[in-house]
Parts: sequence; C-alpha cells; structure tokens
Amino acid sequence: MPKIILTGDRPTGRLHVGHYVGSLRRRVELQNSGEFDKIYIMIADAQALTDNFDNQEKVRQNIIEVALDYLSVGLDPEKITIFIQSQVPELTEMTFFYANLVTVSRLQRNPTVKNEIQMRNFEASIPVGFFTYPISQASDITAFKATHVPVGEDQEPMIEQAREIVRKFNATYNTDCLIEPAIVLPENDACRRLPGTDGKAKMSKSLGNCIYLADTPEDVKTKVMSMYTDPNHIKVSDPGQIEGNTVFTYLDAFVKPDSFSKYLPEYENLDALKDHYRRGGLGDVKVKRFLLAVLEDELAPIRARRKEWEKNIPGVYQILKEGSEVARAVAAQTMHEMKDAMKINYFDDYELIQAQAKKFGGEE
Ligand code: ATP
Ligand code: MG
Repeated sequence: MPKIILTGDRPTGRLHVGHYVGSLRRRVELQNSGEFDKIYIMIADAQALTDNFDNQEKVRQNIIEVALDYLSVGLDPEKITIFIQSQVPELTEMTFFYANLVTVSRLQRNPTVKNEIQMRNFEASIPVGFFTYPISQASDITAFKATHVPVGEDQEPMIEQAREIVRKFNATYNTDCLIEPAIVLPENDACRRLPGTDGKAKMSKSLGNCIYLADTPEDVKTKVMSMYTDPNHIKVSDPGQIEGNTVFTYLDAFVKPDSFSKYLPEYENLDALKDHYRRGGLGDVKVKRFLLAVLEDELAPIRARRKEWEKNIPGVYQILKEGSEVARAVAAQTMHEMKDAMKINYFDDYELIQAQAKKFGGEE
C-alpha cells in the first residue's frame, strides 16, 4: 500500500511555534525522508469559514500567510502538493455522503469540538457547519487515501472519527476503496500540545498567546521575556517548579543536543538545568535568555527563507493553483470509486440500463 500523508492548517492567522513543533517540523522531516509516496498539505479555508463565515476577509488574507509559512519552514513544492481546500469541490461532495454515516450524538461526544464551542461562545447556537467539521475533515483525509496524518494532540478525536467513517463506508457499501488513516503524533508531550506564552493549555491563533514563525527577533524577545513561569519563584534563591512552567515546557520542545554546549555550557543537559531550578539559585531571566537563543536558532533561517519567498507572491499563488489542480484530480478519482461503490454511477452502469429496459419491456 502506498504511504500517503495528508495534513493541513486553517488560514485563521499566521502559523506559530505550536504548529511548528506539533506538525510542521515533522512534515519537513517526513518530506525529506523520501519514505512517502505522496504528501498533500492543505490550507483549510472552507473549514476556517465554519467559524469565520462572516469574516471571509480574514480567511482570504491568511491563505498567503500560511503558504509563506509552509515554504519558509522548508516544505518544498517540488516534492509535495500544497493546495487550497475550497478549490477541490469533491471534498464537499464526500462530506455530504459521509454525513449519512455519522450520528448527532457521536459528533456531540468529540472533546475537541466541545472545547472549541465553549471557546467561541457558540453554546447557545452552534452553526451546523462548525458542528460537522470533523466529517469534512474525514473527507480531506480520505479523498487522498492518506495513511499517515501528522498533527497535534487536539486532532486525535478527528482522526478517530475519520477511521470510523472509513470502516462504516467500506462495510456499508461493500468496498475497500477507502483507507483508514493513522495519526502521527510528536514524540514528546510538550510538542503534542504546546501551551501559550500565557501558560494557557494550548497556543492557538484564536487565543492571541502565540509566538509566530514570522515574528521579528524583537517580538520574540519581548514575548519570551514576559512568559509565564512559576508565580511562586520570586527571588533567584527560591526553589522553583518545573511542572506547568511554560519556559521549561518550551525548552522540552525546542532544546537540541548541541544547545547546551553552544549557549549554556555550564550545564550538561536539560535535566541538570531543571535540577538547579528546583533546588533554587537559578533565575528566570537566565533560563529565558537561554530559551530565546534556542528559539532564534530555529527561527532565524525560517525568517530568512520567508523574506525570499515574499519577493515572489504571484509565484506562491501559482504554486497553490497548480497544487489545487493536482489535488482535485486525485479527489475526483476517489469520488468516482465511492460513487461506484454507492451505486450512484447510473450512466456508467450498462447492466443497470439494460435491466431497466427489460423490466419495462422495451428493446435491449
Ligand atoms: P485555530 O485557533 O484557528 O483553530 P490553531 O492554532 O488551533 O488555530 P489549526 O490550524 O487548528 O491551528 O491547527 C493546525 C495544526 O497544528 C494541527 O495539526 C494542530 O494539531 C496543530 N497545533 C495547533 N496548535 C498546536 C499547539 N499548541 N501545539 C501542538 N500542535 C498544535
Ligand atoms: Mg485549531
């Protein structure tokens, strides 16, 4: 079976370091590993409209931002397909048929959607489109017969939903045309759900607690230096807590084997730094400066690549257009197979036409 990746992001803002450790970094590694037959990266504008239906300008403006972020982290349109969701109408068609296979109570159980409904104050009146976006996400994944979906932890319920839909579709229509996807989660907890700079559970475009990949070095510095730490660690000599301390969570996500020898050679590794903080005698400012250096190591080349791509915006739109055409052809093929399985392929079904002719007593 071919190994295929599908993943994507909502164009609701620029991409941030949570996206980077949760999914983008892994995508680039997988792209360069050469182990995958196809990689599709989708800008989920239709999904973004489910909770921004009256803010279409935000979605429109952020498509190019997300595309630039992709290119600047090293996603390479020569090796992968980058496309825009709304330009592949087959995805909408699939969603309509999948909706028959999912119950309202099943959708209501989705913990991520529950959380997002609360965050958006949708409790009183949930738009149907938003409520059903996990179904549309199943279409995005299955249209490309994706076997692997590299995402953050908040996406786990969506992938499970997609797997259920695949099983139900294949069983109901007696086919094997759809493939069950597997989630690919980051290796450590910090990366699976990076908290916001305010210490809130998740860095999220919608919460305004982000360090963006395109932030200037000055912005990053301001954000890091004012990050949430241990509120009880007041004097340098105080013992400090690591759990829930955002600066250390970010270090868990970003430190590399050579970070200490480069920027903090007096410590052997992150465990040694954490031990010192717990004992007392290590100030927040020193740890934050170290984090800043480690982050800048990662962000500086991304920023530089972005500057280059920003000089060729029409070229970036062209990449998205060509990618969308490629994606559309693939999704159309899957839709064709699905229609065969669902027996809504009337005009291609010679036997059906013949049998009906016979039934009505006409000539064959
Ligand atoms: P929105 O608030 O509009 O939903 P978002 O910041 O949650 O935006 P998405 O576009 O929904 O971003 O998510 C894109 C991908 O990034 C998903 O794979 C998601 O799991 C991952 N991701 C988003 N935020 C984080 C985070 N804080 N830590 C790890 N992964 C994340
Ligand atoms: Mg999200």
